[in-house]
Amino acid sequence: MLRVCKIGEEVLRQKATPIESVTDEIKQLAKEMLETMKEENGVGLAAPQVGKSIRMFVVNADDDVDRTFINPQIVKMSSDLVDYEEGCLSIPSFYENIKRPSQVTIQFTNENGEKQVLDADGLLARVIQHENDHLDGILYVDHGDAEFKKNVEETFAKRRERAEKKALEKEAKAKRIAAKIAAKKQK
Ligand code: ZN
Repeated sequence: MLRVCKIGEEVLRQKATPIESVTDEIKQLAKEMLETMKEENGVGLAAPQVGKSIRMFVVNADDDVDRTFINPQIVKMSSDLVDYEEGCLSIPSFYENIKRPSQVTIQFTNENGEKQVLDADGLLARVIQHENDHLDGILYVDHGDAEFKKNVEETFAKRRERAEKKALEKEAKAKRIAAKIAAKKQK
C-alpha cells in the first residue's frame, strides 16, 4: 500500500506536472493508487496525495467503475451549485459541506493512453472536481469556511510536531545508549 500524505505536507500544495506518456510505471502507479484508495475506503485519490507531483487521479464513485484520469482538463461546468459533505484521505476524520457545480465535462487520457471525454454528474462529478483540484495544489478546505480550514491546519501541524518531537527523543535515547555501551567497552 502507498503512504497517503497529510495536509501540511508540501507536495499537496504544489502544481503537478503533466505526464508525457502512459508508461508501464504510470499504469502500475494507477493500479496501486486504486488499491490504496479502496483499502482506505476512499472514492478518489490523486497522485500528489501519494507524494507524486504528476497530473493523474483515480476514481471509483457511485457507478463502481475504476477510472484513471491522466492530464485531465475540466472543459465545462454547470452553472448550478450543489452542497455535498466532502472528506479527503489527506485530511482524515474531517468533513465539510462544500458547494460545487453539479455537472462537469472532463477531457483526459485513460490508462491505455486513449483520449476520452466524459460527462459526469452526481457523486462522480463531485469526486472529479475534488481530485482535479489536488493537481493544482488545492484542497477542499480552501473552498469552505476559513475558521474550519484554520482549525484543520492547526490540528495537523500539532500532530506533526508531536510526531517529530517523539522521533527526536527516540534518536537521542538511542545515542545515549550507544554512548554508554562505548564507554563500557573502553573500561
Ligand atoms: Zn482529497
